[in-house]
Amino acid sequence: MIKLITSTQELIKYRAQEKSSVGFVPTMGNLHKGHISLLEEALKDADCVYFSIFVNPKQFGPSEDFQKYPRTLEHDMKLLEQCIEGKKGKTIVVYAPSPVTEVFPEGDTRVISVSGLNKILEGKYRPDHFDGVATVVYRLFELVKPDKGFFGLKDYQQYLVIKQMADDLKLPVKIIGMPIIREPSGLAMSSRNQYLFADQKEEALILLRSLKKVESIIANKRSNLDEAQKEIDSITKDKKWNYLEMRDAATLSEDISNSTELSIVAVYQIGNTRLLDNIQVTIK
Ligand code: AMP
Repeated sequence: MIKLITSTQELIKYRAQEKSSVGFVPTMGNLHKGHISLLEEALKDADCVYFSIFVNPKQFGPSEDFQKYPRTLEHDMKLLEQCIEGKKGKTIVVYAPSPVTEVFPEGDTRVISVSGLNKILEGKYRPDHFDGVATVVYRLFELVKPDKGFFGLKDYQQYLVIKQMADDLKLPVKIIGMPIIREPSGLAMSSRNQYLFADQKEEALILLRSLKKVESIIANKRSNLDEAQKEIDSITKDKKWNYLEMRDAATLSEDISNSTELSIVAVYQIGNTRLLDNIQVTIK
């Protein structure tokens, strides 16, 4: 069954009755197959999955798309209903709080900050973004009290921030990272893709193509990193790249001299839309 809850008071009451293990998938809605893949995995793991839909104002900068961000609760509920069909004994609790004070009541001035990780890469382009993300996820964890939280590796830095937060605060929740779901074209699915016109979607394929090119030059060998860096330098002459970098996969440190797992992280910007993608590479 599926249950929609919009008030926090009701959520707290409902959650108090659930004794078995609970999975949790936090989202900002406007659902696509990427979000649904997290839900499917959570439903395999637990009978009861909480799925939040909340466009969190704290993670948007002043000139970003908070007002414009697509809010499509009716469409989202249809997708979620399809997802639960035929799954006997499973429950999805959709928590779609409104207004914002349902999540952040007046007087709740807490800010959760994961220092270091919050200032690099995405954090340079979006200064308060990760504090906003960590703060909302902490608050949602506090309300939902999940045993496991499911996050997409598409937002790789966000996944690391959440893992670090859970670790720092010794939260009793296991953070699960889930693979990137892509359009047939290779473009990573994202609610923001709908800001793109058809020709821009075509242009956006440069993102994965470039990541794959760098991956193929590395060919899992440390000795190829200099050549890969030359290729990156050449690709990023195009100023539409916010960044395309090889980083340590566990820390996102620039120093990869002893790393064996790399994350090649990239953002390509078309108009105001920043498209994120990444590839993980093992090197010897
Ligand atoms: P959002 O609604 O954009 O905040 O995303 C909610 C969750 O879905 C986050 O954990 C994202 O990383 C994840 N997600 C978004 N797009 C994808 C995708 N294409 N593949 C896998 N996970 C995704």
